[in-house]
Amino acid sequence: MYVDSHCHLSFPELAGQLADIRAEMAAAGVDRALCICTTLEEFDTVHAMAVAHDNFWCTVGVHPDNEGIAEPTPGDLCERAARDKVVAIGETGLDYYRLNGRSVADMAWQRERFRVHIDAARATGLPLVIHTRSASDDTLAILREQGGAQAGGVFHCFTETLAVARAALDLGFYVSFSGILTFRNAVELQEVARFVPLERCLIETDSPYLAPVPFRGKINTPARVPFVAKQLAALKGLEVAEVAEATSRNFERLFARTQPVATQSIDRDKQSIT
Ligand SMILES: [Zn+2]
Ligand SMILES: [Zn+2]
Repeated sequence: MYVDSHCHLSFPELAGQLADIRAEMAAAGVDRALCICTTLEEFDTVHAMAVAHDNFWCTVGVHPDNEGIAEPTPGDLCERAARDKVVAIGETGLDYYRLNGRSVADMAWQRERFRVHIDAARATGLPLVIHTRSASDDTLAILREQGGAQAGGVFHCFTETLAVARAALDLGFYVSFSGILTFRNAVELQEVARFVPLERCLIETDSPYLAPVPFRGKINTPARVPFVAKQLAALKGLEVAEVAEATSRNFERLFARTQPVATQSIDRDKQSIT
């Protein structure tokens, strides 16, 4: 069984298709998915999806690319993070890819928004789902300054260098690979995937984007995450079943609130005994 650790099922490309998406997931052996929030305005829709389905969870956060939307306070994030089925803060981070004529200095608002998310993650004890594009130095620097390692989390849809992967691992973060790993020209990323220890790897689709080969360019859905697992297995010289199993266990370990309720209460009992 596979887990899609990052998808956007509320986006227009996929909205209204949940029954089909879930049937395809089941047929493909994808038994769980994490639905990612990108604006406060979107949260109720994403959260309702998680509440309505046993095998869906969700996050709360405001994507660094989003402008002209409600700017979150730590309180906005913490209040929503306390709700049922919310297992992480994000996606958050920095994106300097489309500056639209602005300089990096002009993006102070993105860095401030990122700090707010890190504060909320530390306050709630939930992990961070990090988005970083053309901004890895600042992303790592702010994580260090703001105590992001205390929260931990994942660098999602990883496309950075081996050095950035090493820095993320050193901070205790997981690294998540998307369909980009299957692209023929993603040679450097494939090296990164060989390097990251299996026990720190996650897999994702980032649906509706980044469909893996042989669906490249099409609308993506969580049912295609096995193609990412297959590629990761090939790169590491492992059986795909081993990668499916390990990435599922990693998902449970990182997003501890995705564990079945019974397991959580056993863990809590253990803590109170020791
Ligand atoms: Zn992202
Ligand atoms: Zn995303």
